Amino acid sequence: MEQHDVVIIGSGPAGLTAAVYCARANLKPVVIEGMLAGGQLMNTTEVENYPGFPEGIEGPELMDRFRKQAARFGTEFVPGDAVKVNFSGRPFRVVTDEQELLSRAVIVATGASPRTPGVPGEKEYAGRGVSYCATCDGFFFRGKEIVVVGGGDSAMEEALFLARYGSRTTVVHRRNAFRASKIMADRLVGNPKVEVAWDSVVEEVLGDGAKVTSVRLRNVKTGSTSERPCAGFFVAIGHTPNTSLFKTLLPMNAEGYIEMAGASSYTNIPGVFAAGDVHDHVYRQAVTAAGAGCRAAIDCERWLEGEGR
Ligand code: FAD
Ligand code: NAP
Repeated sequence: MEQHDVVIIGSGPAGLTAAVYCARANLKPVVIEGMLAGGQLMNTTEVENYPGFPEGIEGPELMDRFRKQAARFGTEFVPGDAVKVNFSGRPFRVVTDEQELLSRAVIVATGASPRTPGVPGEKEYAGRGVSYCATCDGFFFRGKEIVVVGGGDSAMEEALFLARYGSRTTVVHRRNAFRASKIMADRLVGNPKVEVAWDSVVEEVLGDGAKVTSVRLRNVKTGSTSERPCAGFFVAIGHTPNTSLFKTLLPMNAEGYIEMAGASSYTNIPGVFAAGDVHDHVYRQAVTAAGAGCRAAIDCERWLEGEGR
């Protein structure tokens, strides 16, 4: 069976940047793209803070450009998720539903996935008013009432996007201050089509059996409850690292983010590197994930060279 120099797991900004660097170093990388090919930015609209795009760029278009750049230098792409890895001996083994890959080195860039509040009615009405992607579903709620839960940059961005469609958009946040950057929070608060329900949580998603009709809110300070009519309930409460595949294999912190050996992209297994949101719970930006992908590729290339490649 062919033995690759490097298999990269994940095709977000970290994985695809690692691929550009590995491909240009003639390592002929294989990228396992994952179920969300292109990563988290596929679920967003305008990216205004990725350097080089002064007018901003749509997330999916940006990721298409990343992919084309990686492909240009000879990256091979494998669709779907890696479902099993074996790092106990060399070459490393990475298994997808379709095939098994052998590789001298592996770069883990599996990123993070949206968190869910797990309230009654959420699952029942998923796709029938409950959404995790404003870009995908905002259009369906033109002229309707919308509720967004969350207080970070994602919630601000989603609510501002949804305010273009909805008659009124209410952001429900469990505290009395946003976690989001000031510029995003100011934009949200200044938008006349957006209201904020501070110190509040969504207790239940209510519907008529076919679609969402309202959510029940509870004020966490007073304990009082109220019903907020809405057709769309959008979840934007952050992410969980996609690391279940590597549990017990790679060192992780309490939240499941992969920990590195010092200020590098080395994990505790020589030849296995990590990059991007799968490790970074602090910065979590496309540009920092891309930078981390670059670092992992350079670490990987040097490590392979040291191994006689
Ligand atoms: P991800 O983008 O999460 O990509 C992970 C990849 O791994 C995906 O391709 C996934 O399919 C794959 N994967 C997962 N598990 C497996 C597996 N088992 N096998 C194979 N592949 C797997 N940042 C900014 O800088 N500017 C913004 O404007 C901005 N907007 C955002 C808007 C939203 C709604 C969100 C959620 C995030 C936003 N971010 C923004 C943050 C940014 O998207 C992330 O920091 C960045 O995408 C992280 O890149 P990554 O490559 O580490 O991981
Ligand atoms: P985040 O920063 O982790 O924020 C999650 C928010 O959801 C927090 O306000 C949190 O409340 C709330 N929350 C978490 N669990 C909850 C629950 N069970 N019920 C109710 N509320 C809950 O996540 P994010 O907003 O997705 O942002 C992730 C990263 O991407 C950040 O680094 C962000 O800067 C970046 N990003 C950047 C942009 C941009 O620059 N344009 C856009 C989007 C995202 P608490 O505050 O109380 O913890």
